[in-house]
Amino acid sequence: MRKPFVAGNWKMNMDLASSLALARELKGRVGERADVTLAVCPPFCYLKAVADVLAGSAVAVGGQNMYPEPKGAFTGELSAEMLLDVGCTYVILGHSERRHVMGEGDELINAKVLRALQAGLKPILCVGETIEQRKADRTGEVVTGQVRAALGGVSADQMARITIAYEPVWAIGTGLNATPQQAQEVHAMIRSLLADIHGRAVADLLVIQYGGSVKPDNAADLMTMPDVDGALVGGASLKANAFVPIIDACPGAA
Ligand code: PEP
Repeated sequence: MRKPFVAGNWKMNMDLASSLALARELKGRVGERADVTLAVCPPFCYLKAVADVLAGSAVAVGGQNMYPEPKGAFTGELSAEMLLDVGCTYVILGHSERRHVMGEGDELINAKVLRALQAGLKPILCVGETIEQRKADRTGEVVTGQVRAALGGVSADQMARITIAYEPVWAIGTGLNATPQQAQEVHAMIRSLLADIHGRAVADLLVIQYGGSVKPDNAADLMTMPDVDGALVGGASLKANAFVPIIDACPGAA
């Protein structure tokens, strides 16, 4: 039985005061939840402050990215150790904005996944096709390639610490979410790919989030799909009044 996992990706939004206010509100409203795994991923500069507010609550904290080296001359980058040091449990890797705006490729994302696991973080690995790839009927091939590449060298045991977020690029921040059926189709494909790689038991335990314009009014329909195990939420995670109803839409949640 998989526990739904809802994570908020704050991206390059918020300031210190609004980050703290949102963290306090989430702690008050969902800080005791045990039926859903919860995390927020604030900008790096607010991680420690947000983690301090959320300490002891059910809401974990994650980074939005990291560099796959423990330390050294990598100006502007942060290591897995640094994320752990300021209270992170998770790290988002391979987000489409990293892939498409910053030009990150599969090889780098794979190195980050391996490094994050080695250091003790839990990666949220993002995969997803562009609209051109979907229109060309290449969704399966693209997502399969991204999953295989990013998980190269990851053991079956390590898979227990990985979440995959299926985020069609055309749905992120656009208001165009995938239909529940479109999401289910890709989620089922990812799960069956993992069964091929690591066996059915590992695949059945893998949490696969959907991400891309998840809002309170479309979350419940997405969550009814058998292979949709929660959501990675961007815009709607910036306000508790939008984020909490998405959490409440998870099956088994109040
Ligand atoms: C995201 O950034 O991962 C995301 C899904 O954004 P949004 O919910 O705003 O589409």
